[in-house]
Amino acid sequence: MNGLTLALSKGRIFDDTLPLLRKAGIEVLEDPEKSRKLILPTNRPGLRVVLVRASDVPTYVEYGGADVGVAGLDVLLEHGAAWGHHGGATGLYQPLDLGIARCRMSVAVRADFNYPVAVQQGSRIRVATKYVQLARQHFADKGVHVDLIKLYGSMELAPLTGLADAIVDLVSTGSTLKANQLVEVERIMDISARLIVSPAALKLKRETLRPLIDALGQACSEGAP
Ligand code: ATP
Ligand code: MG
Repeated sequence: MNGLTLALSKGRIFDDTLPLLRKAGIEVLEDPEKSRKLILPTNRPGLRVVLVRASDVPTYVEYGGADVGVAGLDVLLEHGAAWGHHGGATGLYQPLDLGIARCRMSVAVRADFNYPVAVQQGSRIRVATKYVQLARQHFADKGVHVDLIKLYGSMELAPLTGLADAIVDLVSTGSTLKANQLVEVERIMDISARLIVSPAALKLKRETLRPLIDALGQACSEGAP
């Protein structure tokens, strides 16, 4: 494989990456919402996009299924922590904060749950989340006792059904929390999407990969509001 493969996830990441690619002169020649293809050609003969699950992007780049990818910091840190690499996935270069898909990771509870008191009393708090590793680290750092419950989707439902007292989830506008009578009680970290690069690809395909990284770097610095 001499060409370059860029891993993206459908939805937010794809939609926010598209304008950056466009600024770099790259057009994706198929709309993932209309096509069922998982490999999309671009106007650059040597560059294709593969569509993978958001949480699979680091895996693709790490194991050579893609040369570069775009992944949220949430996904990168959780992936890294799951493999025992604190501070993010090793075996991956993270050269660029693309400044897209911005949100924050927060703790939220049902409006009638008194989180500060529960923390102060040292009660065990049941926390549902997709980000078990990051949540474990966060509460351990704060000395808060938690029982973590791993979920794969719709975290907001957990406190409403009595499954959990709290959730750790991504928040952007807060309207999903609000619609479900949940309140944000703690901000854990700010999140944005990163360009991740395979070190092997950077060695073997430097002449084609480096210009792509530079063009995207240029595009996202221009795009800064
Ligand atoms: P999967 O399908 O693997 O469960 P996902 O549902 O998390 O992935 P998206 O909702 O498209 O996939 O989110 C992709 C990324 O977008 C997240 O990892 C995060 O970095 C970012 N993001 C930005 N704002 C939000 C938000 N409000 N909710 C969720 N993700 C967000
Ligand atoms: Mg989602």
